[in-house]
Amino acid sequence: MFDVALPESLATARERLHRALEHAGRPLDDALLLAVSKTKPESAVRQAHQLGQRDFGENYLQEALDKQTALSELDDIVWHFIGPLQSNKTRSVAERFAWVHSVDRLKIAQRLNEQRPATLAPLNVCLQVNISREPSKSGVAPEETLALAREILTLPRLRLRGLMAIPAPAESMAQQQAPFAALRKLRDELQASLPEALLDTLSMGMSDDLEAAVTEGATIVRLGSAIFGAR
Ligand SMILES: *Cc1c(COP(=O)(O)O)cnc(C)c1O
Repeated sequence: MFDVALPESLATARERLHRALEHAGRPLDDALLLAVSKTKPESAVRQAHQLGQRDFGENYLQEALDKQTALSELDDIVWHFIGPLQSNKTRSVAERFAWVHSVDRLKIAQRLNEQRPATLAPLNVCLQVNISREPSKSGVAPEETLALAREILTLPRLRLRGLMAIPAPAESMAQQQAPFAALRKLRDELQASLPEALLDTLSMGMSDDLEAAVTEGATIVRLGSAIFGAR
């Protein structure tokens, strides 16, 4: 199944990222484009891979595992788990992904650490922060992030890379930028408190707020609908 729109939408997404980096005075390779393929068929991932895309984000574990199995010959794909993670599902994530962006409690981190196969490199993790302090939303509270980061640094099979957030929707560019600036500040504070860590990652920005996120220092932008179309 060939999606006639995908080559152009992927090219447009890359251009958007490059323009935003340029506008921010940052090098053009300073942020990674993560293609969020949730709900999209395996054929869309295959086609994006043919167009040079290597990093893919998935939210739903069973769907992701099915796609990984179908695409197993594409062994240079880097799979990122970005969805909510329950403790009974950590094993497959530990075994089949290179990154998890959505760690928000110690129990999940401990299980991922225990279950990460010794044959693989340590699992890259970001802490998901509830930066807009929305009730009942995923993510660790900003003031609890340092304590969680300290614990995770003791887990040898995990590599703490930084922070991820999904801010509340906002209208203007300035309103979009505020929570991203707060996440960057929190990362900088963490880095100052934890000099032994290499917190080089800010996973922030989606199809509707990529420019605001890149302006505030995003190093991974997670684009779904802008690449693969509406879900
Ligand atoms: C779905 C999703 C995205 C992509 O969202 P778009 O608005 O389609 O770009 C990014 N991050 C997370 C965590 C998601 O669940």
